[in-house]
Amino acid sequence: MKIKVDRELCTSVATCIAVAPNTFELDDEGIAIIKNPKGDDEETILQAAKSCPVDAIIIYDDDNKQIYPKVK
Ligand code: SF4
Repeated sequence: MKIKVDRELCTSVATCIAVAPNTFELDDEGIAIIKNPKGDDEETILQAAKSCPVDAIIIYDDDNKQIYPKVK
């Protein structure tokens, strides 16, 4: 599983950090970054992505297929 944060979208709400504090943190600009892509289990990281109000967290599987947000 791969994680990406879209820095343009992130509004520093930090719910991702509340859900998966071992995976995400805010950088100096208040934008979420990935501090450890394996900091929390995959279900928790997916929950964190779903908790983001602006869908700034993008999750890919090991074949680089986007899992979340769902591709329309
Ligand atoms: S929940 Fe979304 S908007 Fe909030 S800090 Fe995390 S990535 Fe950024």
